[in-house]
Amino acid sequence: MRSDLFEAPDYYHLDDLLSDEHKLVRDAARQWVKRDISPIIEEYAQKAEFPKQIIGGLAEIGAFGPYIPEEYGGAGLDQISYGLIMQEIERGDSGVRSTASVQSSLVMYPIYTYGTEEQRKKYLPKLASGEMMGCFGLTEPNHGSNPGGMETKFKDMGDHYLLNGAKLWISNSPFADIAVVWAKNEEGRIHGLIVERDMEGFSTPETHNKWSLRASATGELIFDNVKVPKENLLPNKSGLGAPLGCPDSARYGISWGAIGAAMDCYDTALRYAKERVQFGKPIAATQLQQKKLAEMITEITKAQLLAFRLGQLKNEGRATTARFPWRSETMWKWPSILPGKLDKYWEVWESPETTAL
Ligand SMILES: Cc1cc2nc3c(=O)[nH]c(=O)nc-3n(C[C@H](O)[C@H](O)[C@H](O)COP(=O)(O)OP(=O)(O)OC[C@H]3O[C@@H](n4cnc5c(N)ncnc54)[C@H](O)[C@@H]3O)c2cc1C
Repeated sequence: MRSDLFEAPDYYHLDDLLSDEHKLVRDAARQWVKRDISPIIEEYAQKAEFPKQIIGGLAEIGAFGPYIPEEYGGAGLDQISYGLIMQEIERGDSGVRSTASVQSSLVMYPIYTYGTEEQRKKYLPKLASGEMMGCFGLTEPNHGSNPGGMETKFKDMGDHYLLNGAKLWISNSPFADIAVVWAKNEEGRIHGLIVERDMEGFSTPETHNKWSLRASATGELIFDNVKVPKENLLPNKSGLGAPLGCPDSARYGISWGAIGAAMDCYDTALRYAKERVQFGKPIAATQLQQKKLAEMITEITKAQLLAFRLGQLKNEGRATTARFPWRSETMWKWPSILPGKLDKYWEVWESPETTAL
């Protein structure tokens, strides 16, 4: 079992910019990760299994819909708190953060933003408490980067819609109670539909043997003449912009999550470099290792300040899609500057799967 000795790097005193509430939320998430994630995560990653027993804990730290108003069961927090929660969760494990991102930004966000008042009241409180888990179906076998080409479609049958098609690489699908599914109507216009697990013709086979995000469950969504009640259509936005608005919200959280993973890499590398003795001295005493560590903390500090500012812009409703590309750049930088002995992190950072969500 891994003992978690993590000490958060804060080279530019970012803490001074955070409110008491931000720190409270962040510290609660940090302690929970130390107590409930770090001791078990290696085992679950090795088994490639999502640890379902953590769902209640994720809900308690506000990881499900942190910015959804309290009247719908959310935590009613601001965007910086949301980011800090994602940072702490991903510090523990990227797959667990992925589960939380999907629930918040890809399921609760579209229901809150594009749904009816009835849909909000029916689903959001249960999703916030973890009583219900959700997934988001956009990617298809033949349409990944280009979701506009999707083939999943629904037909108006008068008193219900008939849904047919398939989605692939869907996080949380093997255990999700509901799926927010994107499909084309007869005119070729994309709409969101809420599909529930017990609907006939709906199945969610699991995808096995992932190389990374192993503690996150991934699978397919198969729709074989699924009758979807008309009240399950999300009415307030349609077209490709509707599904694409959701990953924007997720990516904001992922930008903080990547910082959490980087902070853990730095902390682990620093500790190891101080402990590992070669040529009669700790390797941290060599300039080559010091340079690598200095580059790591520089990149972390830059990312912390960028994410904080992006959070402020999001709070003010001024963070547009164009302001997100630095996230992937930050993620991809890490493999080149991590010192050795961190193979398990390399696996995550090097995999093409990391670009997915
Ligand atoms: C672990 C995991 C979880 C996921 N969870 C979800 C989920 O919950 N819901 C969901 O809907 N989807 C999910 N996805 C799917 C993910 O969003 C897609 O993998 C992604 O959109 C890319 O699609 P693709 O894999 O089909 O790759 P492709 O679109 O086939 O791309 C293959 C390669 O071509 C490159 N490429 C494509 N187009 C261009 C271009 N125009 N210019 C240059 N290069 C290009 C890509 O960068 C990539 O390297 C998940 C994927 C993974 C791996």
